[in-house]
Amino acid sequence: MYVTHLECPKCKTKFNHRELNQLCTSCQAPLLVRYDLNTIKEDFKKEYLKTRCCNLWRYRELLPIEKHSNVVSLGEVMTPILKIDKVGNSIGLKNLYLKDEGFNPGGSFKSRGAAIGISRAKELGVKAFAMPTNGNAGAAWATYAAKADIKAFIVMPKDAPTITRNECQISGAKLFLVDGLISDAGKIVAKAVKKYRFMDASTLKEPYRIEGKKTMGFEIAEQFGWKVPDVILYPTGGGVGLIGIYKALLELKEIGFIEGKLPRLVAVQATNCAPIVKAFKENKKESEFWEDAQTIAFGITVPKAIGDFLVLEAIYETNGSAIAIDDKDILKYQELIAKHEGLFICPEGAATLAAADELYKNGWIKDNEKVLLLNTGSGLKYPDTVISNPPILKIDEEI
Ligand SMILES: *Cc1c(COP(=O)(O)O)cnc(C)c1O
Ligand SMILES: [Zn+2]
Repeated sequence: MYVTHLECPKCKTKFNHRELNQLCTSCQAPLLVRYDLNTIKEDFKKEYLKTRCCNLWRYRELLPIEKHSNVVSLGEVMTPILKIDKVGNSIGLKNLYLKDEGFNPGGSFKSRGAAIGISRAKELGVKAFAMPTNGNAGAAWATYAAKADIKAFIVMPKDAPTITRNECQISGAKLFLVDGLISDAGKIVAKAVKKYRFMDASTLKEPYRIEGKKTMGFEIAEQFGWKVPDVILYPTGGGVGLIGIYKALLELKEIGFIEGKLPRLVAVQATNCAPIVKAFKENKKESEFWEDAQTIAFGITVPKAIGDFLVLEAIYETNGSAIAIDDKDILKYQELIAKHEGLFICPEGAATLAAADELYKNGWIKDNEKVLLLNTGSGLKYPDTVISNPPILKIDEEI
């Protein structure tokens, strides 16, 4: 393993990666995993990938797992990137692509974070963890925890997608619902981890989930032949995916796998929960708590992200942007892409298509630029976003 230490991005204090560390003990900021990139540059060549399995473990030099026997896998796959020409032409973009994270075990990209997070927790001897979630993360962590024999305590808003509850339930997690938002679930978890000395698996309060999510960035670079797209749009809640993609691309640059300009990263949020967008418009480095957050894109209902400063840094450093989409448009574009491309994507993913359309119309994206949408989960996890009322036929009736 090439991990050298954990590092606080604010005060740069180093922490030991062989111990269970959560936040920086002085500034309460998330810790980032650092690698010996110079040695990786010597030891790891693109050609090696040709003979490795098509899943996130193929990037093992850049992952924080020491022993293969600690790997907890539910059959992760490299998710496809599809060129979506029909919907691209309909809005004017000639090079529009979608990476479909719905193919992950459990139907969302949260499996990536859970695969690495749980594997590393097992390696560090963790027996139990607690986490607040908007649904998909809890479901992913509960399923991987079952495989690893780690106890999961999950708290989610009562309005989270029902299927994610059931995934927790059937895999044996201890599940609680709260009549509130993920931020309220977070407060309950914070007390529980103190009381019972659980590992705190809240977004970015342990350093390894992001290492799993960053593998989206590795795959994007590799799938595009190590020539990254011009723009990447990402539905942003806690922002781990976006921070992860940015971290991955910086690491790839450092080891010489990619060169040149990085993609402009765009955080897409919902109009009724857009703290990052507001901070970006005000040119701020951190966001403020968003009151009365509510959107159909439940996975991005995060009123205040602990890693907001890292999301904003990734946007500023790549000359990216942040944009909010309202629920009506989310549903409209979810239907548009299904009609044109046969893809039933999640509302969070649909928000990125709406955002691409808007950014093209206002000139921020040019028609020939290579644009990648991240569909973070399968539409199958959100059956209630569609209402179908077909006529019911009598037996023998004709159509
Ligand atoms: C969790 C989630 C998001 C937000 O992801 P972050 O990386 O935390 O910003 C987006 N879409 C779906 C479907 C999710 O489950
Ligand atoms: Zn610090």
